[in-house]
Amino acid sequence: KGGARSAPAGPQKLPGIDHVIAVASGKGGVGKSTVSANLAVALAAQGKKVGLLDADVYGPSQPRMLGISGKPSSPDGNTILPLRNYGVTLMSLGLMAPEGQAVVWRGPMLIGALQQMLDKVAWGKLDVLIVDLPPGTGDVQMTLCQKTHVDGAVVVSTPQDIALIDARKGIDMFQKMGTPILGIVENMSAFVCDECGKVHHPFGHGGARAEADKLGVPFLGEIPLDLAIREGGDNGAPVVASRPGSPEAAGFVALAAAL
Ligand code: ADP
Repeated sequence: KGGARSAPAGPQKLPGIDHVIAVASGKGGVGKSTVSANLAVALAAQGKKVGLLDADVYGPSQPRMLGISGKPSSPDGNTILPLRNYGVTLMSLGLMAPEGQAVVWRGPMLIGALQQMLDKVAWGKLDVLIVDLPPGTGDVQMTLCQKTHVDGAVVVSTPQDIALIDARKGIDMFQKMGTPILGIVENMSAFVCDECGKVHHPFGHGGARAEADKLGVPFLGEIPLDLAIREGGDNGAPVVASRPGSPEAAGFVALAAAL
């Protein structure tokens, strides 16, 4: 009593931001960034004010996926003005470093970068901030959940056993941090042959739903393995924006509606 005021303990709500949703995966390459980008665009299409924080510090791919280039400005030398496309406000380390340049930072620097993107970026008033996390269960994930109030995590996995084992570890980490699991999304789940229409399951099928049932967390749906989804990501035109109403966009739209 009467002493100096100490910094508040525990996760803090970000001013002006109603909800924070983390998108996570146990391993890389399962489509976490693809889901983050399309989910953000789908939520914006619902009329929500949406931000996307690309915290995948080792491989920031959101500038390319959302077709955003150029450097964010900082007119006052303190706050950073994010960039915008498809109704989504984006901040990413990929906007600060040239593409193709490796991030060779140690843990504390990554934490500093994450903190800056949370504190110094002029996000404005947002209904939801999507955070595209790096794969795995490292410093960035833990710092986010410890410092910031995260409303829930969406875990992306392919139907493959090995991806699911890693997804389980991710879920375990969030549960230990007290972050609610919004559910598991199965990406690259079915492939429809454009010649014969036959449905193939190159990575298996139904594994994520079974895993969700086993862990007692919601299953949030399936996203097909589809060329248009890959091309949309590579070309800065997410399928939800470039092919609204298409079957390849439907899984992302359903996911946005489910959250
Ligand atoms: P992560 O963020 O998990 O590392 P990405 O979202 O970067 O994964 O996806 C890895 C690659 O797979 C990218 O080239 C992306 O375009 C592609 N990809 C992701 N999801 C799909 C999908 N459902 N269908 C086709 N390609 C996909």
